[in-house]
Amino acid sequence: VAKNAGKNVYRFFEEAMQEDIIEKLSMERSLREAMGKDELQLHFQPIVSLSTGEIGGYEALLRWHNLQRGMVSPGRFIPLMEESGLIVPIGAWVMRTACAFARKLMDRGCLDSYVAVNVSVKQLINGDFVSMVKAALAEAGVPPTALELEITETILMDSEFFDDNVAKLRELKATGVRIALDDFGTGYSSLTYLKQLPIDIVKIDKSFVDDLAAGGKNKLIMGSIIALAHNLGLTVVAEGVETEAQRDLLREFQCDFIQGYIISRPAPAAEMLEFNTV
Ligand code: C2E
Ligand code: MG
Ligand code: MG
Ligand code: MG
Repeated sequence: VAKNAGKNVYRFFEEAMQEDIIEKLSMERSLREAMGKDELQLHFQPIVSLSTGEIGGYEALLRWHNLQRGMVSPGRFIPLMEESGLIVPIGAWVMRTACAFARKLMDRGCLDSYVAVNVSVKQLINGDFVSMVKAALAEAGVPPTALELEITETILMDSEFFDDNVAKLRELKATGVRIALDDFGTGYSSLTYLKQLPIDIVKIDKSFVDDLAAGGKNKLIMGSIIALAHNLGLTVVAEGVETEAQRDLLREFQCDFIQGYIISRPAPAAEMLEFNTV
């Protein structure tokens, strides 16, 4: 009996796994069609200076609305786009669309604001990355300083292409594009790599911001991260700020910028531009 039960359990897992694979393949097929069907949209979330209260820039965040599936979260579809290689063409579309948004900001008189675009390692490894970025900037007619690239350290560390990737980032940085290290604190060996990477900005992960409420050593950690980043000459952005208490503490620690629901949720370009008329 026990043996049979074991078999049944095994069969159950096998079926569940198969269903998982089938669902993944089907989602991948839908994603492949998503661009042509206009199902992808870019939302923008403001990044605000704690000293002036002004919007420094906007992070571009990809949204996928599928007829059958409804809204699918980036946490689910980004990994699929990475596995399938779809991130390369879709990432290029994100870059062009984000640069077009930067153009619109400039046309409205926001001459110093920038757009931050998330970049996957798959895109970076792709041979054309640097020229793709330059072409997107040229097509929109915006200077490199209007663009910030967000990369995660895990993504760089995991890659056998570390040196190539860093070289590409350096090349873009030399033209004026800024580089941000995203989700700071969630990877490993953070501190040692900070000085090796060609970065201008550190984005402290939401988990650290959330931990602030618990008090104790968490505040000490936040204060130390910000001080360290400043000592290295980096600008600090805190992600996922939701409460006034968090904002006040971050201001106390002299964090430069915050991003989060306390300011605004990510929203379509038109809404953001309306909100931002000068
Ligand atoms: P991320 O780059 O760290 O983006 C910040 C995430 O935090 C976004 O989630 C944003 O909507 C969310 N967020 C911002 N403020 C708050 C807040 O106050 N509370 C809470 N609970 N969440 C907040 P989202 O849009 O779901 O994106 C998740 C991740 O997907 C991003 O993390 C990024 O790694 C990836 N992603 C999104 N768009 C793109 C893209 O165009 N290309 C690539 N390669 N990755 C992308
Ligand atoms: Mg990001
Ligand atoms: Mg992040
Ligand atoms: Mg993230």
